[in-house]
Amino acid sequence: MDFALSEEQEAILDMARAFGEAEIAPHARTWEAEGTIPKALWPKLAELGFGGLYVSEENGGAGLSRLDATLVFEALSRSCASVAAFLSIHNMCAKMLDTFASDELRERFLPRALRMEIFFSYCLTEPGSGSDAAALKTRAARTNEGYTLDGTKAFISGGGYSDAYIVMARTGEDGPRGISAIVVEDGTPGLSFGGLEDKMGWRSQPTRQVQFDACAVPAGNLLGEEGHGFRYAMMGLDGGRLNIAACSLGAAQAALDATLLYMGERKAFGKTIDQFQALQFRLADMEIELEAARTLLRQAAWKLDTGAPDATKACAMAKKFVTEAGSRVADQCLQLHGGYGYLADYGIEKIVRDLRVHQILEGTNEIMRMIVARQMLAAR
Ligand SMILES: Cc1cc2nc3c(=O)[nH]c(=O)nc-3n(C[C@H](O)[C@H](O)[C@H](O)COP(=O)(O)OP(=O)(O)OC[C@H]3O[C@@H](n4cnc5c(N)ncnc54)[C@H](O)[C@@H]3O)c2cc1C
Repeated sequence: MDFALSEEQEAILDMARAFGEAEIAPHARTWEAEGTIPKALWPKLAELGFGGLYVSEENGGAGLSRLDATLVFEALSRSCASVAAFLSIHNMCAKMLDTFASDELRERFLPRALRMEIFFSYCLTEPGSGSDAAALKTRAARTNEGYTLDGTKAFISGGGYSDAYIVMARTGEDGPRGISAIVVEDGTPGLSFGGLEDKMGWRSQPTRQVQFDACAVPAGNLLGEEGHGFRYAMMGLDGGRLNIAACSLGAAQAALDATLLYMGERKAFGKTIDQFQALQFRLADMEIELEAARTLLRQAAWKLDTGAPDATKACAMAKKFVTEAGSRVADQCLQLHGGYGYLADYGIEKIVRDLRVHQILEGTNEIMRMIVARQMLAAR
């Protein structure tokens, strides 16, 4: 068993970290205040191959493993978890196009998505169904030309910002087997958006409802086969969960690194606060927790890469553990900064706010426990 990263993986980590420090970190607060990320950022990330990290090389992607991709998200999140997580959603969609789209659909969208001239959103959640996603009601009725969509998607990251949406909609019976995945381009008549959601974190990412009112798309916009959309959506999520966990890990590590420096400068009772053993123990606990999180995350990524039978369970375990550890560490880092931790200038409060949602989306952490428990019971 070899736990070391290869030279190539170290290089990926360094490249993503350097890009984040140069191109994201200096602007992260401004983008948060403006509630949007400039589209000019994306082609720069695409030049590094980050528009299709695990899209096959055959179809023009970087062809990286899921483990490699977690390194990218961990490194970018050191600069801004919100920007890194947004990139993860686009990558999840690009991979769905790579794997399931017809040649014609793939040709139409994937090359531009890889260059990040166009940005993709993922539309599963609805106002009435989140965790129970297979209960979705948005309908795509078959017509002579293709499909007509009616319904509403909620909480869509990139809603009103993205150039195209992968929409999970009902084309058949109730339940997961009646769901198909359909690409809807921005500007399609009948596609509209709700108001900008005012959120605790991830504020640089625009989140809106995405609404379909007799929204007609050609038959060629169907991704893969009718009735398989829910399966495609879930397959995207295993890896998406790894990415979100990696975003928690990177941002929490950045908070811990900043805290270590801060504690060597801040004085109380005549000495720097890093001299209090009670606080040293907290530092040690955070280091242990993040290293355990990193190991579990990379093991889960390796299981997904190698097609291990328990990969879904491993991804759920990692998502639950790493996102909770990341939030605990970020919160402790805020505490160790005292009042300054509460001020935006120190960068810690933004991390606390950004990481909180990682316990809720890509499947809540209760759903992660459900996946783990279900597999435990089945294997009894
Ligand atoms: C900022 C943000 C961005 C998002 N981006 C997207 C996006 O781009 N695309 C998209 O499709 N969705 C997106 N979502 C939606 C997200 O995936 C859902 O919010 C999430 O899946 C939870 O669904 P819900 O909010 O409807 O909560 P509910 O499903 O109503 O859950 C409420 C509570 O009940 C718990 N619960 C539910 N069922 C069970 C059960 N069986 N056992 C135990 N506990 C249970 C949940 O864990 C939760 O604590 C985003 C959400 C947010 C906040």
